[in-house]
Amino acid sequence: MGKGVLNPARPSFLRVGGVLHCGAHSLDDLAERHGTPLYVYDADRALERFRTLREAFAPAAGAPSPALTDTPLHAPRRLLVAYSVKANPNLALLRLFARAGAGADIVSGGELYCALHAGFPPGRIVFAGVGKTTGEMRDGLRSGIRAFHVESAQELEALARVAAELGREAPVAIRVNPDVQSPTHEFTRTGHAAAKFGVPPDEAFELYRRVAEHGNLRAAGVDVHIGSQLREGGPFLRALDVMLEVAGRVRRELGIALTYADLGGGFGIQDAEAGELDVHALGRDVTARLQGRGMELIIEPGRFLVGDAGALVTRVLYLKRSGPKTFVVTDAGMTELIRPSHYGGVHEVSPVNENGQGDAEVVDVVGPVCEQGDFLARDRLLPVPSPGALLCVHQAGAYGFTMASNYNSRPRPAEVLVHGGRATLVRRRERYSDLVRGQFP
Ligand SMILES: *Cc1c(COP(=O)(O)O)cnc(C)c1O
Repeated sequence: MGKGVLNPARPSFLRVGGVLHCGAHSLDDLAERHGTPLYVYDADRALERFRTLREAFAPAAGAPSPALTDTPLHAPRRLLVAYSVKANPNLALLRLFARAGAGADIVSGGELYCALHAGFPPGRIVFAGVGKTTGEMRDGLRSGIRAFHVESAQELEALARVAAELGREAPVAIRVNPDVQSPTHEFTRTGHAAAKFGVPPDEAFELYRRVAEHGNLRAAGVDVHIGSQLREGGPFLRALDVMLEVAGRVRRELGIALTYADLGGGFGIQDAEAGELDVHALGRDVTARLQGRGMELIIEPGRFLVGDAGALVTRVLYLKRSGPKTFVVTDAGMTELIRPSHYGGVHEVSPVNENGQGDAEVVDVVGPVCEQGDFLARDRLLPVPSPGALLCVHQAGAYGFTMASNYNSRPRPAEVLVHGGRATLVRRRERYSDLVRGQFP
């Protein structure tokens, strides 16, 4: 195991009699009932992860802290855990988090629509993204979201115009690019100077000056998001320090007290290669730095909440030996889970039923899609499965289904949520008719 701490809590998918289960349901049974490929989510695990973060980032002792569980909706809070909707926008999961008191971190008008549909109070929704359209800004303003996380000077001017048109005041947090290097995949690093996200601290200050001057803009908070799958606390703390410097300067020179600091998401989870971020240690350091500043903390976890609460169940179609390689061909591939080929994601893969397995061999688990880059795992030691056997691809609850596509005209899979002992189909498998819907040949 590489960097990070071992996942301390119970894993989601446990073996009973050699067979993987989600709660009381065997993945065998769920696959039988709903077909494969199939996404299975453990609601209890997702909620447990939500509570873990609430506790880890609870305000330091001594700070005035209203009870976290029963804070009235509009009372000032000290901590808002805003679920990053793009990690998994399944409505059943969104509802679960909305009811548990989470906020939502959104990056599009579509996510705003889904978040409101799922019952998130607008006051708990923050809106990030480098390319918000004026239509999306209008929708956000009309629904009364908590703040826009602004990523450029031109975006700020566009927001000001839209707010003026509507006769409203747009709440703003500038997304600061703290120029920290985060040791993660190139495509998930967002907090270094060459990334497209955020603006450098000096420019951020100038944007706050603009906000202060404009009658239709209001400075609400300050924001960063530095990357994904981070296993170390250091980059987060450096980003927080940069944010707090900006907030200090805004207070001194513009006389504006920003009400929140948003640390973004990116809390790393355990996979086949490394352990997870020690969120308790990070939480202690973060809350200690915030103590006495009178600022609310917002965090935007996506993967940490749903990543290991989800798995992709797939059936083995064929075994194929080719030169030095052994390929296990499955009915799921990059169309269902693109992380391995897009980000170098290393998901654990294991047989659903451990009984009667063959000898272990180093294999590639590949999908049916006509791309050489279509694989779920490479050079993995696995008991060689027989055709018809089921495999479980773990840690697939985040950036799994949400990035699924119809490439090769493959209908997208079904999703099942296991909650309090019940397994519910929360999205039906697409049919061939879905592939032609909306086209006018
Ligand atoms: C994607 C994203 C997140 C969530 O990242 P995770 O790695 O899933 O925790 C949080 N904030 C913003 C702005 C994002 O774009």
